[in-house]
Amino acid sequence: MLVFDKGEIRNSLVIDNIFDLLQEWGGDPEYASFGILCHTICHNKPGEGSKKLYYYENTGLFRCYTGCDSYFDIFEMVVKVMNVQYAREFDLNDAVRWIAQKFGMSGREEDDPDDEELEDWKLLANYSRIQDIELKTNNVILKEYDEDILSRFNYTVKIDPWLKEGISQEALDNAMIGYYPGGDQITIPHFDQNNRFIGLRGRTLCKEEADLYGKYRPMKVNKQLYNHPLGMNLYNFNFSKENIGILKKAIIFEGEKSCLLYKTYFGLENDISVACCGSAVSAYQIQLLMDAGAEEIVIAFDRQFEEIGDDEFKRLKKNLIKLRNKYKNFVTISFMFDKNMITGYKDSPIDCGKEKFLQLFKERIVL
Ligand SMILES: [Zn+2]
Repeated sequence: MLVFDKGEIRNSLVIDNIFDLLQEWGGDPEYASFGILCHTICHNKPGEGSKKLYYYENTGLFRCYTGCDSYFDIFEMVVKVMNVQYAREFDLNDAVRWIAQKFGMSGREEDDPDDEELEDWKLLANYSRIQDIELKTNNVILKEYDEDILSRFNYTVKIDPWLKEGISQEALDNAMIGYYPGGDQITIPHFDQNNRFIGLRGRTLCKEEADLYGKYRPMKVNKQLYNHPLGMNLYNFNFSKENIGILKKAIIFEGEKSCLLYKTYFGLENDISVACCGSAVSAYQIQLLMDAGAEEIVIAFDRQFEEIGDDEFKRLKKNLIKLRNKYKNFVTISFMFDKNMITGYKDSPIDCGKEKFLQLFKERIVL
């Protein structure tokens, strides 16, 4: 029978694996000095908890500072998430197997003639359950916010910084981009694939704020924070879903603005763009695109390197290869990669006009 060594498996997980899992589960993780900071998806559904779940890299343990108020390891975390998100009763062995399967770790074959048949059967049963879970992820329903808030923003003022970058007024109107004077922010509503209003992000126009908190962040209006787990949704998918099914292709950008430029250059009726709103793509996001009919997923990330071969270049390349390896058995993954340096440092492939974008698209790499 197949035996999995719990300790061995736990030790072979690196912090990026943990991060990916948390991302996939909708915990909106972020790296911190001690390890990872994450929403309390140990006892809450994605998008509902506060960022009080800590993962300590040195001990490999989680600590939830609210509902659970205890330490636990990744396997217990799997048990908790399965329970909270999928209403499934996992025991520790199920969790160990699930993790092993997830990261392609093999068990050790051990003789145990009496149980052999039974074990095989159990493994198979478990396998179909895993398939079941993969499909079940489609049922994640994010919390819906009251759309009334959107009527309070200003849609008549010209969004000059974005118009100057070439985004058309038609694209801004289509995406309901507005302005919130109270926060000096451009307002970017996020919808799920069924057009439910599930998040609101703001692009601050105040330089001090941007330096302090970052340019883009969830908006807070009248004490209500309009956040959502970014890994559990795709920006603009509600608009591009049908075209993705027809063309069997999808383009993933990092930021919302790139989708607006895409609509501008190629027309709303040809839009196949989405944004993952970060530099990580989750399994859930890939699944959404495949369900819509995508047979090729084009990764169009920012040029996050100054020279070919520098440290940032190596990191980007490593991430892209990791992505390819993770999903290559399910869908074709290709990359727009500016190896001839025709765009600027940190530019999205669509930032430097339609011609350059088409060139990069034509030269995209299927690893
Ligand atoms: Zn908890």
